[in-house]
Amino acid sequence: MSSSKGKDITQGSPKFSASASVSGGAGPVDPRPAQQPPSRYESQKRRDWNTFGQYLRNQRPPVALSQCNSNHVLDFLRYLDQFGKTKVHLQGCLFFGQVEPPGPCTCPLRQAWGSLDALIGRLRAAYEENGGLPETNPFASGAIRVYLREVRDSQAKARGIPYKKKKKKRNLIMKNASNNLPMQIGNFINHNSKVGFEVGS
Ligand SMILES: [Zn+2]
Repeated sequence: MSSSKGKDITQGSPKFSASASVSGGAGPVDPRPAQQPPSRYESQKRRDWNTFGQYLRNQRPPVALSQCNSNHVLDFLRYLDQFGKTKVHLQGCLFFGQVEPPGPCTCPLRQAWGSLDALIGRLRAAYEENGGLPETNPFASGAIRVYLREVRDSQAKARGIPYKKKKKKRNLIMKNASNNLPMQIGNFINHNSKVGFEVGS
């Protein structure tokens, strides 16, 4: 009789087992990559996650993942700007607002908003897949959302590209625009898959 202690196990185990019993039908509940994202996304996510972990370890003093908060994530995003390849014109620049400037200028290169947005989406998922709790997920915090929105708006103004929230057929225009910009940034830039949209909601 006293052998029915099985429920205590839940503490140590990931909550995969819990959601597995919720057979609610065709819900996208199953966290396992059964037929889900392509392996390219998974490997990119893994690389991003490793890079972020390395970034935390390189801090002085090193930051444990359990202590990581949205400020660390924001610092990380700003740190990535030095590897950016997207010219973002400053307000005083003659080319401010031009998509294709006719000449060079000294404005800084930045990470494109779409890249950061997709990156945050991957890291947000990776955090919880690696045992982090959704409630403490620093990638899901409002501060990150605000920062991304600011980056998006400022880049939209600086480059004259209106970033549409709704994904209409205007995607073509964005694609062309980004083709004119060299966009390889080490590991961080994946093609801007729709994964980033998970972040917004
Ligand atoms: Zn400029």
